[in-house]
Amino acid sequence: MDSQPQRERVVFDVRAWEKTFQELIQQVKPQAKWTLKLDGNLQADCVAEGWKQYQQRAFGGFWCSSCQRKWYSAKVQILCHMRLEHQKSPGQVLMRLFGQRCRKCSWSRFEKPEFSEDSTMRILNNLVQRIIERFYTNGLKKAREIPVKPEVTLEGSHDSINCEACSLGICGWGLPICMTQPSEGPLSYMEIGSSSPRVVDMDGPNRARNQSSEAKKSQGNGYSCADKSHSRISQ
Ligand SMILES: [Zn+2]
Ligand SMILES: [Zn+2]
Repeated sequence: MDSQPQRERVVFDVRAWEKTFQELIQQVKPQAKWTLKLDGNLQADCVAEGWKQYQQRAFGGFWCSSCQRKWYSAKVQILCHMRLEHQKSPGQVLMRLFGQRCRKCSWSRFEKPEFSEDSTMRILNNLVQRIIERFYTNGLKKAREIPVKPEVTLEGSHDSINCEACSLGICGWGLPICMTQPSEGPLSYMEIGSSSPRVVDMDGPNRARNQSSEAKKSQGNGYSCADKSHSRISQ
């Protein structure tokens, strides 16, 4: 059906993620014990006492369970809540992966993202750096976010209507734009096999100049990602 080269499907496996995550953190903190669990009910900015929040975006792929269509996005939202009660007790990470819906099957469910090994390592390294910053250095050693690296050419704008995080108003909220290949513009969505790629003129370079003032305006007044003009916040 698709004329594009097929990419191997990498089904998300939380136990494999937890294992890699534990290895990464022990490279920096050999004595540290941390667990990583999925929690589909995690709410942004609703953080239980003693927990800290970290949200990042990543490059990932989606497969529609209705029509088998696949698409990619560099705006897959990942929310983490983290806790370390005592230095001697195990730390905990709860993670929620936000889905996207097939734009051709509007009745369909939000599909969960899948990630390549590269994207997985980036997500987990970012998480580990953030944990070190928040729990082991009192914020003195600032975590440096590894930028999102699109693995395919992305065309068109982010499909906000079909993004679970956008529907909750937390897609990119408070996140810096952190992408490689800036010369290609802030494009974040690609449809495989489309005969007419959607290129939205609002996303051109002129648009970018107005973003920071709009971003400021949109803060604190019911910011909604469903509105394209506010779909990226630069701080
Ligand atoms: Zn579909
Ligand atoms: Zn979104």
